[in-house]
Amino acid sequence: MAKKVGQRGKKVCPSCNELIAARKMTCDCGHVFQAKTKAAKKQATATATQPSLFADDDAPPAVQKARQLADKYAKRVTLIEAISTLDQQKKDLKAELEQLEKELKL
Ligand SMILES: [Zn+2]
Repeated sequence: MAKKVGQRGKKVCPSCNELIAARKMTCDCGHVFQAKTKAAKKQATATATQPSLFADDDAPPAVQKARQLADKYAKRVTLIEAISTLDQQKKDLKAELEQLEKELKL
């Protein structure tokens, strides 16, 4: 089966297969899109295999310690971003659920 190719600024609704504006979070058919933000993608790659931002084994201990600290601050930012992304996804899922329940008249 041929897959519809997404156009610039457009995305295909998996529910009704129509092309709609990429920034729209809800299709006219009622399908609610999951937030696939840049932060989410960045987060996915960041947590997978993030080498130290400052890999350099020959640095003096004080410098290495400072780098480890910097890595921890970077990790902290990554975690905060991940949490806010999950919060957004939770909201999107709730919206999708509410939409579905409305359709089912629950
Ligand atoms: Zn649709």
